[in-house]
Amino acid sequence: MTVGSGSRCVSSGRVLFGPPAPSLRRPPLRAPLFLFPVPRISPARDWTPRVFCCCSDGPRKGGAKARWGFDSSSVLGGGGQGSSEEDFLVVSFYKFVFIQDPEAEVSKHHSFLQGHDIRGRIYVNEQGINAQYSGPAKDALAYAEWLKEDHRFSDILVQTSPSFDGHSFPHLKLRYKPSLVQLEGGIAHLPLLDPMVRATPLSPYEWRKRLQAMTGAYVLSGKADRLVSNRKFLLLDVRNGYEWDVGHFQGAQRPNVDCFRSTSFGLSDEEVASSDPLAGVDKKQTDILMYCTGGIRCDIYSTILRQRGFQNLYTLSGGVSNYLKSEGPVTWLGNLFVFDSRLSLPPSIYKPGVTANGRPQVLYERSTFARCYICGSQLPELRHRNCANLDCNRLFLSCSSCVEELRGCCCSNCTCAPRLRPVLPGHQRYQKWHIYRDVELQKS
Ligand SMILES: [Zn+2]
Ligand SMILES: [Zn+2]
Repeated sequence: MTVGSGSRCVSSGRVLFGPPAPSLRRPPLRAPLFLFPVPRISPARDWTPRVFCCCSDGPRKGGAKARWGFDSSSVLGGGGQGSSEEDFLVVSFYKFVFIQDPEAEVSKHHSFLQGHDIRGRIYVNEQGINAQYSGPAKDALAYAEWLKEDHRFSDILVQTSPSFDGHSFPHLKLRYKPSLVQLEGGIAHLPLLDPMVRATPLSPYEWRKRLQAMTGAYVLSGKADRLVSNRKFLLLDVRNGYEWDVGHFQGAQRPNVDCFRSTSFGLSDEEVASSDPLAGVDKKQTDILMYCTGGIRCDIYSTILRQRGFQNLYTLSGGVSNYLKSEGPVTWLGNLFVFDSRLSLPPSIYKPGVTANGRPQVLYERSTFARCYICGSQLPELRHRNCANLDCNRLFLSCSSCVEELRGCCCSNCTCAPRLRPVLPGHQRYQKWHIYRDVELQKS
């Protein structure tokens, strides 16, 4: 089967995962299909990335491999309490706040981190800070605590999750960055510092109540257009299509973008309206419920939508990771994609012991939407792999027989590529190319 080739990221030059295989362009959603008045995606249209990219520091690096069956209870407490000092954590936080001298701020952070074992991405500019990093619990939490001593950051939401087998990032990048999140055209002009322009944050509890009310309304009425209090809702997944593939809120449409940079919901002109879930939506009457992994993408994107006239914007405070930790996987299906070497995490990592609807979430339930990119069969496990062809490197979900047949490649074309890497067993991640190249040279 021929599949679309990867496109190249404008910022990093890396090859990205292109559109899904034709059979998967519109993956089947679980019933009930249309909880919300969401226009359907046209399967025929090729999406041309227009705006943002979150992939420049994507999850392709790093050597740590994830382990399943990990007992996270020892690592995750509130904010990481309960971790032993040897446990590694991934910590993330962001805050939009005016920083008068971001270069001085960066130096201050560098000084503090001397002697602390921290790796990851920490970006600072006049609009605030955005950080995801890993480290031994002691160091990882000490940095967050140190930051919170500064009154500008005292209320920052610090999120933690376990990092298996050491670091989840290859090195530390702590620097001034003009855009805290990659967006074509930059984000410096956006009014990110004004909370009135950003979407109204809903706590995980409030979010769950909203979603359950919407689901309940569907069950009662059986119709998508008769919703709670006659208000219309739209659940908007502000992430990438491949993130949706491993897990999403029930009823959320698959984003038709492979790079957040390309997100252009609500900006449609006529010809692309069919692929835009916000096209034709009543900007005054519809409640737009936006979610992403940690919240920053929604906060940014909501300012754009606000400028476009959308009046009722709500965001899940702290994103899905905060929700899973607080509420468990209620109305959530599958795993959560993360931008580090772990790639995706099951909800039990965030809130051990709690399951959807009080029942254990079994694999076949999750796998009804997760399909092999190549043959379309249902998958027992929600985990991406990179194409063995270095110059493709597409992230995709694959069944074991397709992995074997195509030797870890995403399509037959890639199996003939010059820079092929061996099939990776289990959950390992590819290492630097020279490792594989040197082995080949020794053989020849
Ligand atoms: Zn397959
Ligand atoms: Zn490939």
